[in-house]
Amino acid sequence: MSDTKINFHVRAREQRKTAESPPRCTCCGNPRKRRTDGKGWQGTHGYCGTCTSRWHHQGRPEGGPAYLSAAERAARISAGMYRHHAVSPTSGRQKAAGRLQDYAWLRSFGESREAAAARVGVGEQHARQAYEPRIAAMSEAAR
Ligand SMILES: [Zn+2]
Repeated sequence: MSDTKINFHVRAREQRKTAESPPRCTCCGNPRKRRTDGKGWQGTHGYCGTCTSRWHHQGRPEGGPAYLSAAERAARISAGMYRHHAVSPTSGRQKAAGRLQDYAWLRSFGESREAAAARVGVGEQHARQAYEPRIAAMSEAAR
């Protein structure tokens, strides 16, 4: 019995200690976001906010949140691109930057290089030479 107690205290201390670096979502692996009221992290059961709301949406299946279906993913991609274009000015230079952002966004959903390039209207070769290195640099910086 006393073992349980000790373990509990150790775990509580560990949670406090790691409060500054976000815990990873046990579903998608992304760092969880801090709640706006500052009390812990968004989401429940070790999932990030996104996965938690998806989980609730799915009727809280026992195995945890399921990954997005192809249709859900496509809907989210379209919604994200729509949001992005709604706020983006359309000068030539910014259009080019927007294409890179769209491309990076599509790739972050696991779209293939060919599919993402076709969708933003650039050649696959251009994507490989111009976009991929920049995306790699961006995700390095975010780390
Ligand atoms: Zn998640």
